[in-house]
Amino acid sequence: MAADKAHAVVIRAVPFGETSAVVTLFTREFGKLRALAKGAWRPKSAFDGALDLLSACQVLVLRKSSGGLDLLTEAFLQRRFRVARSLSAVHGGMYVAELLDALTADADPHPELFDVASRTLERLSSHDGPDVAVWPWVVRFELAVLRAAGQAPALSRCAECRITLPASDRVAFGMLDGGALCADCRRGRRAVVSVSADAIATLRSLARRVDDGHPPIAEGLAGELRAVMNTYIAHVLGRRPRLAPRLVPTKLASVSGAQPRNDS
Ligand SMILES: [Zn+2]
Repeated sequence: MAADKAHAVVIRAVPFGETSAVVTLFTREFGKLRALAKGAWRPKSAFDGALDLLSACQVLVLRKSSGGLDLLTEAFLQRRFRVARSLSAVHGGMYVAELLDALTADADPHPELFDVASRTLERLSSHDGPDVAVWPWVVRFELAVLRAAGQAPALSRCAECRITLPASDRVAFGMLDGGALCADCRRGRRAVVSVSADAIATLRSLARRVDDGHPPIAEGLAGELRAVMNTYIAHVLGRRPRLAPRLVPTKLASVSGAQPRNDS
């Protein structure tokens, strides 16, 4: 059987036996896969650091046709995730791995999502600028992974009746309904929060811009966006992501007005 070559990001690695590991890779070619890396943690292993969490690597993998683990035969490190001074950037990187694991299915390729994930990790690695520069990357990645999972929030039209939303200072955002709601559809619904027009406009802009940079988000707005996205993703997953508590701009955690208003 010939080994398949793939571009991969390491999103999880757990010990298996004395020196081996079971790694979860998000690959550009095959989507998410789980593979046994024999002797991965032996000194001078053939994998040589390529299987550290969040590393980008090229791998050779023997695919199993039905169930079971694939077998990783080689991995070449392309880029290691470097920890610099921004703890938010490190948590952001770990969050990328958590969402890829939770929101993608095995063997279901999404090359565009791989490219966004890879670029996001590249930008967060070594980040030692201000935290405000981290949030656009985190939110853009959230929107990309939600889109790939078929769970992108409605931002321009009502999630229920699909009419274009009229301009307004506040927008009702239904956590259970999949995004923005018009005034008619909003009535009587549970888990609806009121989000500022600025926050909705920023989400729309981040949903469109996949490759290029985005101006840093003002701190007050970052707090509101984190609150909306943390809550929305918790509803999609049916649980709060492990990293969610770490992804709140610290200075804002206690400032009132940073949280979306709960209308229900
Ligand atoms: Zn509606």
